[in-house]
Amino acid sequence: MSFANLGLSAQILDAVTQQGYTTPSPIQAEAIPAVIQGKDVMAAAQTGTGKTAGFTLPLLQKLSQGQRAQANQVRALVLTPTRELAAQVGESVALYGRNLPLTSMVVFGGVNIKPQIAGLRRGADILVATPGRLLDLYQQKVINFKRLEILVLDEADRMLDMGFIHDIKKVLAVLPKQRQNLLFSATFSDDIRKLAKGLVNNPVEISV
Ligand code: AMP
Repeated sequence: MSFANLGLSAQILDAVTQQGYTTPSPIQAEAIPAVIQGKDVMAAAQTGTGKTAGFTLPLLQKLSQGQRAQANQVRALVLTPTRELAAQVGESVALYGRNLPLTSMVVFGGVNIKPQIAGLRRGADILVATPGRLLDLYQQKVINFKRLEILVLDEADRMLDMGFIHDIKKVLAVLPKQRQNLLFSATFSDDIRKLAKGLVNNPVEISV
């Protein structure tokens, strides 16, 4: 198995090679083609499995087709439970997307909101966010979700453990109904399955 036949462009493959990756991990081998095909994905994967590249690489691939985000627009939203994870995912997006003309931003609470407002006014192809700060920013009317194509919930079990279910539901309520959904979770408890029911359509299920 190699990265070359998963459907990724030369620019993305170059970034992967520059990272020193030679072989896709099992979750990457399954998730990357499914996401590129536009399918919803539900994946049970712990940290360390390569799950971040598993959703980031096909996200970049999909978004490199189509019109760039205009002012206030967001085309892909990645929700994470913590600032640390948001920052890590944001770094992966920047790294793997280094050869692409896409914009990305990371927003989380506990820091000054003003630079985040200014950044979002310019629009972002990919926004990585924690739920509470995302809602703050949405309520300040600096984010327009009309062109949102893809939603990713990363470490969904941790988000539920941290009590983010209401925030997540508020976010889901303001997103376009027609979109692609990716759900990543270390475990698939009853609560996660319940959340998944209202979120993913006919998903490809991956377990590694
Ligand atoms: P993650 O599970 O997404 O937190 O990734 C775990 C670590 O594996 C990160 O440090 C990645 O840089 C690294 N990694 C991800 N994909 C690959 C790959 N295909 N080959 C080698 N290392 C990888």
